[in-house]
Amino acid sequence: MLALVYKSAWEVALEERPVPEITRDNQVLVRIKATGVCGTDLGIVSGKYHAAPSVILGHESAGEVIDVGSAVTNLQPGDRVVIDPTYYCGQCEMCRTGRQNHCTHKSVTETGVSADGTFTDYYVTEDRFLYKLKDHVSYEEATLTEPLSCMLTGINQIHLLPNFRTIILGAGPIGILYSYALASKGVTGSLVDISEERLAIAGSIAPDRWQVHSSFEQAIADIAPSTGQVDMIVDTTGVVGTQVLSQLASGGYLMLVGLRDGTTSFNPKEVVDRSLKIIGSIDSLGTFATAHYMIEQQIIPAKKIITHSFPLENYEEAFRTLGCDIQGRTLQASSSAIKVVLQSN
Ligand SMILES: [Zn+2]
Ligand SMILES: [Zn+2]
Repeated sequence: MLALVYKSAWEVALEERPVPEITRDNQVLVRIKATGVCGTDLGIVSGKYHAAPSVILGHESAGEVIDVGSAVTNLQPGDRVVIDPTYYCGQCEMCRTGRQNHCTHKSVTETGVSADGTFTDYYVTEDRFLYKLKDHVSYEEATLTEPLSCMLTGINQIHLLPNFRTIILGAGPIGILYSYALASKGVTGSLVDISEERLAIAGSIAPDRWQVHSSFEQAIADIAPSTGQVDMIVDTTGVVGTQVLSQLASGGYLMLVGLRDGTTSFNPKEVVDRSLKIIGSIDSLGTFATAHYMIEQQIIPAKKIITHSFPLENYEEAFRTLGCDIQGRTLQASSSAIKVVLQSN
């Protein structure tokens, strides 16, 4: 099977790999149909995020069950499924204390990062990581389940009230999915992005009663004209850091979900004195079934969020659409695409 393999920064290639085999009786062989290209993939390719050399990339995926181990009772060949790629052992200290997204085995089990992923034709996983798809949900739409699940995990860490005034920095796929995760709890707010093109797309697909703004200052002025402070700021860009703390109302939340190196500073007295909360969140924890339900019920406009789709062979074009020029070795924010999906054959 053809697989998109990571070698080192800016060095990726399509390679022939053997089809993986079922080796345990609770495993399932899935024929991959579609995998979303994630910011993590761009980070790995551009050398900003570590991955194991010669790993197959890709982790936001859906496909068809081809074969099942002898102990698998809830799935059969032909079933259409979405894959929860966040493996956890269930037995380590992190798993036994409700932090399965930080399973201590992650350094060798993270799909598409430290373990082979799904930018290829076949993938083997355990039955507990597969969720059946209804006929009306396309494989492409289903690829949004994993990122949406991560957003739901993020907001589960917040004591959220429906009247929280919220600003999301970055109107890319993460920002838009965050707006839907928050909208599902009754929260409204603004998506902020410096790209007019991206804002135009975001404006047409944002949840009801959500606004878009081209600057943080405009968003603050519009949402909180009297106080200049909002209850929650979600930074998906990774570049804002703690410089927005003064725009948080007392008791407010700064949620950091942009995976980027950097340094930031804040005044601990301000955080204490105004009961501010600075929260980070990575991967998904106990929310995959809810994300699966939200996609199935068409609570998020998955078809509109996926703006581009390419065959796996055209991965370079797919990455370029997202601002990642592999040949030219440059990574910029994309303005024309929200979510891009690679289709396996
Ligand atoms: Zn991802
Ligand atoms: Zn574990």
